[in-house]
Amino acid sequence: MSDYKIETKCIQSGYTPGNGEPRILPIYQSTTFKYNSSDQMGRLFDLEEAGYFYTRLQNPTNDAVAAKICDLEGGAAAMLTSSGQAANFYAIMNIVEAGDHIVCASALYGGTYNLYAHTIRKMGVEATFVDPECTPEELDAAFKYNTKAVFGETIANPALTILDFEKFAKAAHTHGVPFIVDNTFATPINCRPFEWGVDIVTHSTTKYMDGHAACVGGAIVDSGNFDWEAHADKFPGLTTPDETYHGIIYTQKFGKAAYITKATSQLMRDLGSIQSPQNAFLLNLGLETLHLRMARHCENAIKAATYLQNHEKVAWVNCPSLPGAPQYNLAKKYMPNGTCGVITFGLKGGRDAAVKMMDALKMIAIVTHVADARSCVLHPASHTHRQMNEQELLEAGVQPDLIRFSVGIENADDIIADLEQALQAV
Ligand SMILES: *Cc1c(COP(=O)(O)O)cnc(C)c1O
Repeated sequence: MSDYKIETKCIQSGYTPGNGEPRILPIYQSTTFKYNSSDQMGRLFDLEEAGYFYTRLQNPTNDAVAAKICDLEGGAAAMLTSSGQAANFYAIMNIVEAGDHIVCASALYGGTYNLYAHTIRKMGVEATFVDPECTPEELDAAFKYNTKAVFGETIANPALTILDFEKFAKAAHTHGVPFIVDNTFATPINCRPFEWGVDIVTHSTTKYMDGHAACVGGAIVDSGNFDWEAHADKFPGLTTPDETYHGIIYTQKFGKAAYITKATSQLMRDLGSIQSPQNAFLLNLGLETLHLRMARHCENAIKAATYLQNHEKVAWVNCPSLPGAPQYNLAKKYMPNGTCGVITFGLKGGRDAAVKMMDALKMIAIVTHVADARSCVLHPASHTHRQMNEQELLEAGVQPDLIRFSVGIENADDIIADLEQALQAV
């Protein structure tokens, strides 16, 4: 971890050119890497020596960008993945097997809910979903003898529920399992979960980190803090010999990099959800301005939320950074400088009015995306979460009338003017 301030890390971390080398991180647009001896190539395959040999496993462009994200989060090791979904899949599959169980906060991104509720269940891994605002006793009761991880989102997409890190970290650690958090919406600019007892962080870099809606991508960062050896019986994949690598033991050989090395050498090797170096290059450009953009996203979100809150046709607004919001205190505790640019609201006319208003917007577009420079809206009940029934929607914190509004970095007056004219159409 460098000693630079977070703004400097956005620009400088991950890549330091040597004398006469390119000033900007190059795109290593190559599937493979050349070696002079067969022997050396063999040592790379055995993980005896570090080096690149095939881009499905590792690529220098990707590694530089992963190192920057690692530094931003204050972690020990990190990897890029092809998408946020791949990151959340690998983060869990790296430490579970068929027959295992995980505990999840129920307010989750729709894709992540499907992944944990349905897809990994078919692989023999069961998830119990708990209300993020449950009592410590209720949370405790969700654990089983075979629980291997606890998962939640810093700011849930789209419910905007703020995760009480300390409550969840305490429960996870009491039960001897790591606490994994998807920090996509807050980004390390506004929240660094490792400072609150979180062990592993995931990202959909598709959102604010890229910030321009240019590239789908993901990342996993390990704090290196979870003591796998102390709970060796639960995590044999990390603490007993890996026969596919001549019996190496990840915790013994790689220390704080054990979890990420295992995910790279097993999951990336076998499942192959690598990010393309071209996308990693663009992601890196996005990261350079992340600190500037997050501040403006937050500022505009508060202005838009304040405008909506005072409008007679608006029934409710949720912007956790706005004084008076139900989770304002939790938001201030974990994200004193702001949460994110995404807010939600509902109209007095309900679901029908929501659809009518969205159709009347001129600059703000209806898109299946959030958290990029351009303002956009989505109606989760009709779009991202449409596969959920009414009960599942409510558990995920998604009211049927909820409009998810990703406030961009245009001038706030133009954003508000577009809202104004669209609300007149309702
Ligand atoms: C978008 C999103 C994901 C999924 O990421 P992709 O890059 O689209 O695969 C996961 N978690 C959160 C919180 C998201 O917003």
